[in-house]
Amino acid sequence: MSRVHNFSAGPAALPEAVLRQAQAELLEWNDQGASVMELSHRGQAFIDMAAEAERDLRELMAIPTEYAVAFLQGGATLIQALLPLNFAASGQAVDYVLTGHWGEKAIDQARPCADVSIAASAEGNGYTKIPARALWRLRDDAAYLHITSNETIHGVEFADTPEASRAPLIADMSSSILSRSLDVSRYGMIYAGAQKNIGPSGIAVAIIHPELLARAGQLRAPILSIGNHLKHDSMLNTPPTFAWYLAGLVFKHLKQLGGVAAIEAINRRKAQRLYAVIDGSNGFYRNRVDPACRSRMNVPFFLANDVLEADFLKHATANGLIGLKGHRVVGGIRASIYNAVTEASVEALAQFMIDFAQRKA
Ligand SMILES: *Cc1c(COP(=O)(O)O)cnc(C)c1O
Repeated sequence: MSRVHNFSAGPAALPEAVLRQAQAELLEWNDQGASVMELSHRGQAFIDMAAEAERDLRELMAIPTEYAVAFLQGGATLIQALLPLNFAASGQAVDYVLTGHWGEKAIDQARPCADVSIAASAEGNGYTKIPARALWRLRDDAAYLHITSNETIHGVEFADTPEASRAPLIADMSSSILSRSLDVSRYGMIYAGAQKNIGPSGIAVAIIHPELLARAGQLRAPILSIGNHLKHDSMLNTPPTFAWYLAGLVFKHLKQLGGVAAIEAINRRKAQRLYAVIDGSNGFYRNRVDPACRSRMNVPFFLANDVLEADFLKHATANGLIGLKGHRVVGGIRASIYNAVTEASVEALAQFMIDFAQRKA
């Protein structure tokens, strides 16, 4: 068996140790005589596992005790739709800072149920720079302020938590959660689909301050009420049990590596390595993002001679480097280097890029 170097944007690489453990436990999990997939979510074994996954996530992110943690289905996109329904009155003001494709999508999901205002937009600069905080136009009556912490497609990331407004800050961290240390107490809510930095697709995580949960929100079905999910320990209906279990294994794995601070140091080195290759290529490779807001998780770049792009991807695949094709909305190449992508994989890509440039320049 040979596993490739996987730079897929999502679903993305998982830690090999986690996959091996899941393989070893696939037929019989936890002395239950059955796979975790075959057991009731109402059984004690699953309930205990789910509670432990939550405890581990709380420990990894140092989540203050008053915050609620939910494990939800429907991905980050459903959560984007739930935000106005749960936290804003019908037609109430909500502010969004737009720094890339996923910010656009968050706005699309909120528009039917709230008065969306774009407090600041990077669209004019092609999503290459986060608008300065001093220029954000925030409304006093906004129910919340939404940002996308890391724009997975455009490769633009907030280096720090922005200064909050009067309204709670809600952050889509789908592609950056658990990749760097942060102060959860600065946020009203953090949410993330799992398939980039947590586990397989099918589950999403939400971390929510009680002030938001106390809001009446809008008329909605019980399944669309985040508070209702929390009241039922995220088991209002059948949860994606296998995805939850795998997320729990990833949390344990991260703890073994030394937690978020340890993985952050590795992530910083990985990103520096690739940007150094790009910046040192005499223009053969180009990344257009302002260095102050370059993503550590997704490194998009272009070849100065775009005719070579297909050749680059073909040879990369032949060399065991996969998932490098840029998203269709921007084109080019993108290396996603989430927590589970090792420094060895990044080094293999860096060497390939250097060799390719030498051969073709
Ligand atoms: C992938 C991604 C999404 C969409 O996630 P789904 O789970 O597919 O809904 C939203 N926001 C960001 C930042 C993403 O990277």
